[in-house]
Amino acid sequence: MTDPAAWLAPWAWSQAQHCLIPPQSARTAARSTAVGATAAASPWTPEQQQRLEAALEQAPSGSEAWDLALALLQQPGAASLRPMADQRRQALVGDTVTYVVNRNLNFTNHCVQHCGFCAFRRDAGQAGAFWHSFDTLQARAREAAQAGATELCIQGGLNPEARLNGSSLAYYQALLRALAEAAPGIHLHAFSPQELLFIAEQDGRPLQAVIDGLLEAGLGSVPGTAAEVLSEPVRRQLCPEKLTARQWCAVILQVHRSGLASTATLMAGHLEAPADRAAHLLTLVALQRVAWQHQTSGFSEFVLLPFIGAQAPAALRQRVGRDQPDRAAMLSLTAQARLLLGRWLVNHQPSWVKLTLAGATEALRWGCNDLGGTLMEESITSMAGAQGGTRQSPAALEAAARSLGRPVRQRTTLYGAPVPVGVAP
Ligand code: SF4
Repeated sequence: MTDPAAWLAPWAWSQAQHCLIPPQSARTAARSTAVGATAAASPWTPEQQQRLEAALEQAPSGSEAWDLALALLQQPGAASLRPMADQRRQALVGDTVTYVVNRNLNFTNHCVQHCGFCAFRRDAGQAGAFWHSFDTLQARAREAAQAGATELCIQGGLNPEARLNGSSLAYYQALLRALAEAAPGIHLHAFSPQELLFIAEQDGRPLQAVIDGLLEAGLGSVPGTAAEVLSEPVRRQLCPEKLTARQWCAVILQVHRSGLASTATLMAGHLEAPADRAAHLLTLVALQRVAWQHQTSGFSEFVLLPFIGAQAPAALRQRVGRDQPDRAAMLSLTAQARLLLGRWLVNHQPSWVKLTLAGATEALRWGCNDLGGTLMEESITSMAGAQGGTRQSPAALEAAARSLGRPVRQRTTLYGAPVPVGVAP
């Protein structure tokens, strides 16, 4: 069995253990059950909210923070949280809704893993398998830049054939360089923590060398996908081959310490319980604290990713018993995440691909302030059977924000003001 700490920096592996909040510890189990029972009987109050925020300032791994976070996540009929979450959003980031003009590039779906929720992966040669050439990807990057995109979001399956001169890192570097050549100045938001660790494993070299090599090739920031739910018991059922929650935290710590921002995601609405959600969100706070303590880049935004069952592998689909997200439950979780993450993660984005644009627009009333990207193409979620489509025009995103009477502006990946990018001849 491979050493889980292999390829990771020892400091990051050790710090990841402190940041990763377990979903329930024996120490707090009894008290949390009692708090949960109380919470179920009474609505979340401004006083509890204040206590939670104070506890997070002290220590997200402390028992006070745990009890209150769990009580918040256990709120029944969380519609009562909506006004409080909306107010919190307004206090933290104002009324303006943001979006980014970007293009997704899912360059291959060949993958050696078999995550229980994934309808995207294929074996090489299997029906529906694809692996795009650099020429195809460059043409798409040019098109994106011509359409005003400021970002390419690049993610793919774990493809062991993706090598150049025998090196996985060399392939990924060449991919970034080819895209930068096609669309000079465009922001390259690329490769999940799982992909980064995969490259290190494939080449048998430290993760830090991979991050440094990709930075040199133009990497601009990292998608915080593959987090799914940061709860080891859930991951063992959902995606046992994937990097562990502790490994995800360690990779993110190294990414942030290298000066790269990442997003933070939570895939919800499948096997996870309120305690898993609480643990996940508290872990994000703990990781952001570390980034801020070291004055390095941290998480730029939080994205809630509802599970789509329609085309998911049968075992999980049947267990969950739902093809499309439970919109009311996901809106409640949107509000809960806003209230829990507070000042630690101020930008919140719903997924219009998963919720539809109408659902994402509604989420703007539940604590969200960002509508994400135009995407222009999308494979991962649409292959799972999502109903939100694969592209949005800037006009459609702006109209969605304005339908709520909210101002709207285009942003860059890292929430700055956009500047035009070049297009290679
Ligand atoms: S989620 Fe990613 S790692 Fe898992 S099977 Fe799908 S493509 Fe592979």
